[in-house]
Amino acid sequence: MQEFKETISFIQNYYNTKEFIPLHEPRFHGNEKKYVMDAVESTFVSSVGAYVDKFEEMMEVISRTNKAIAVVNGTSGLQVALRLAGVSAGDEVITQALTFVATANAIAYNNAQPVFLDVDLDTMGLSPVAVENFLEEYGEIRGEACYNKKTNKKIAACLPMHTFGFPVKIEELLKICKKWKIPFVEDAAESLGSYYKDKPTGSFGELGVFSFNGNKIVTSGGGGAIVTNNLELGKKAKYLTTTAKKPHSYEYVHDELGYNYRMPNLNAALACAQLENLDIFLSKKRKLAENYAKFFENTNIKFKKEVPCTKANYWLMAVELENMEQRDLFLKTTNEAKVMTRPIWQLMYKLPMYRNCFKDEQKNAEFLEDRIVNISSSVPLK
Ligand SMILES: *Cc1c(COP(=O)(O)O)cnc(C)c1O
Repeated sequence: MQEFKETISFIQNYYNTKEFIPLHEPRFHGNEKKYVMDAVESTFVSSVGAYVDKFEEMMEVISRTNKAIAVVNGTSGLQVALRLAGVSAGDEVITQALTFVATANAIAYNNAQPVFLDVDLDTMGLSPVAVENFLEEYGEIRGEACYNKKTNKKIAACLPMHTFGFPVKIEELLKICKKWKIPFVEDAAESLGSYYKDKPTGSFGELGVFSFNGNKIVTSGGGGAIVTNNLELGKKAKYLTTTAKKPHSYEYVHDELGYNYRMPNLNAALACAQLENLDIFLSKKRKLAENYAKFFENTNIKFKKEVPCTKANYWLMAVELENMEQRDLFLKTTNEAKVMTRPIWQLMYKLPMYRNCFKDEQKNAEFLEDRIVNISSSVPLK
């Protein structure tokens, strides 16, 4: 209990306030107003405009990929990325149960079924061991694809998620997926600016998806981006997310089922200004993480640190409590003191719509679900 009180004081001191401290609030100290006003004055506020193009170029540089496509939010980006990776109705997609609901929803929007496999305790993301074990038992390569020999369904993709910005063990996962001929798509919604070895997350899979929702490390108000090194897929992604309209100066010709998933220029303007400050946000968050790590060192609360070979963006800082009772007490004590904290998500197979999906033992996911709490993570003002 004393530790919880000291944690509250530490956070209040760090943010220099005794008022309500949210989990993660955006910071607009750069060109945000200027660019948004400029978009308004240009009259291009909607689905096309210079800021959309600029945003896509910036994202190509940041994610070190050949093509970035701005979309209306991360969830729709994931939906389209999965479709482009070859997921269709009746297929299965491997993912983790310890994730935000959008990961599973994007699979379901393609009328495919999530297969929930366990996570690693250190990364809190999809475990290569769990994937390997599942495939050894259920996988079968038929021609150029992998099938689940028990259900006879195609295992059409593997969709790991980089929890709170901590990269999963990408190389191991990629190796397994390659061996089993399973396309790899990254839910990098939380990990803009995170690296595995020397490469940005989101750039490893056939496609990767970022989110620019209001609570993410940088925001466009609402928005997302699909990235890929495959120019053919990139072109297709742009086409599908802009109603699948054949280029023509005045006629409407649509030749397949597309979506209106475009990011408005107004939002792209905000995103461009935010991306200009990404490096500052990343270094200030890293500093905060270092301070948290030092503070929690001699306590019974474990601060989650990046694992070897990775660089986390520390989007949401996370601590691990000793058990569920301690977690609940920590949540109650901090929130009562107006220092917002929040437990990690409920595992997906506990939600009514995913209750009947396949899951493995989930030992690590259950352990983390009972203990992990997010603490104040906004970019410090100092
Ligand atoms: C934020 C997030 C998304 C996408 O969210 P949008 O709000 O649709 O942009 C997807 N997956 C995860 C894990 C997320 O945290």
